[in-house]
Amino acid sequence: MKAIDVLVIGAGIHGAGVAQAAAAAGYSVRVLEKTAIAAGTSSRSSKLIHGGLRYLESYQFSLVRKSLKERRLLTRLAPSLVKLEPFYIPVYKSTTRRPWQIRLGLALYALLGGLHRENRFKKMSRYRLAEKDGLKSDKLQKIYRYYDGQTNDVRLTEAVMKSAQQLGAELVLPAEVTAIHKNKEDFEVIYQSQQQESIRAKMVINASGPWVNELHQRITAKEKISSLVIDLVQGTHIILDAAPPSGIYYLEAEDKRAVFVIPYHYKERLCTMVGTTEKLFTGSADNVMASDEEVAYLLNLYHHYFPQQKAAILECFAGLRVLPQQQESMFSRPRDTILHWAVPGVLTLYGGKLTAYRSTASQVIKQIELLLGKRQQIARTDELYLE
Ligand SMILES: Cc1cc2nc3c(=O)[nH]c(=O)nc-3n(C[C@H](O)[C@H](O)[C@H](O)COP(=O)(O)OP(=O)(O)OC[C@H]3O[C@@H](n4cnc5c(N)ncnc54)[C@H](O)[C@@H]3O)c2cc1C
Repeated sequence: MKAIDVLVIGAGIHGAGVAQAAAAAGYSVRVLEKTAIAAGTSSRSSKLIHGGLRYLESYQFSLVRKSLKERRLLTRLAPSLVKLEPFYIPVYKSTTRRPWQIRLGLALYALLGGLHRENRFKKMSRYRLAEKDGLKSDKLQKIYRYYDGQTNDVRLTEAVMKSAQQLGAELVLPAEVTAIHKNKEDFEVIYQSQQQESIRAKMVINASGPWVNELHQRITAKEKISSLVIDLVQGTHIILDAAPPSGIYYLEAEDKRAVFVIPYHYKERLCTMVGTTEKLFTGSADNVMASDEEVAYLLNLYHHYFPQQKAAILECFAGLRVLPQQQESMFSRPRDTILHWAVPGVLTLYGGKLTAYRSTASQVIKQIELLLGKRQQIARTDELYLE
């Protein structure tokens, strides 16, 4: 059996992005996914294609700059999937982040975004908006508006995977990788599909999201398997049967965290989504579930800011962030992807953002090129339209 060039584990946004970029760079690629496209974290995000205004507070400037560049590109390459929407930041007497800090943050955000038209921000009429959306107006001092991107994370992942397949990548699902044996020249990857199958690959990309370290336990090699110490941090959203706001509200919770209230298409109707939380998770990533405590936290926040709105919970969902274990609060930990060699030939992707998937995939391609050599390029991912 001839070995393929690149075997990708996981069809989340990173697996799809790497498959697209590797196929575009001329490599033979197969993706193995145990459940469905975007079955993991890539269907449980806040669905924002954004630089991440809040990451300025933890000085992650290069991540913000890179993500804003990707946002601009994605609004051009995937106009039916990524749209710019207004974001509103209300400031009350009790809000910790003062108007001057928000203006400064938005100015820096615009600067990192290259001062394009879409990065302009302005102060809004607070009474008009409060009346329109039912926002609490008591002690409301100011509202700022800026623009950022919104998407459907599942549809975006499917579109990237479709593009990868059009370039020649193969997708097998359901196909759970159960063992990876490192040989002298290549890898033998065993997976459970309708029956047990195996494939040989010159290189393996572990894009299995919160299952990354679990996957390392399935590798056998002469070398020691290297894993990063990580925390899985659970983030929950609730979907409410409540009048959707006219834009995305960026609100300060009681514990000072930023929480979004988002107009959201749910089963053909426009509802309201609120999220997210940050709660340390232990156990198997298969069992992540929204807790009562998180749901109450999000519902309280919604009722606090939108006291007149009636809201019944339609659905709750929870996803897992992969963050390096550090002393800092979860809110301040780096959100950029970390590329790590588990053993020579197996490259593992830790963490990252939906927004920056294409840029992450380009970094992975540089590593593939170093190991396998360059191939005849078929296409460029910054020119491929997604739909
Ligand atoms: C609550 C929350 C909100 C977020 N909001 C945003 C946001 O608004 N904007 C943004 O840019 N980013 C956001 N992110 C980050 C973003 O969602 C993630 O970085 C991204 O979705 C991770 O994708 P992934 O492909 O690495 O992992 P996943 O999407 O989890 O994909 C991993 C895949 O691997 C498969 N798999 C696992 N084990 C195996 C195996 N043994 N064999 C075969 N397949 C396997 C799984 O089934 C899964 O489909 C958010 C994250 C969270 C948790």
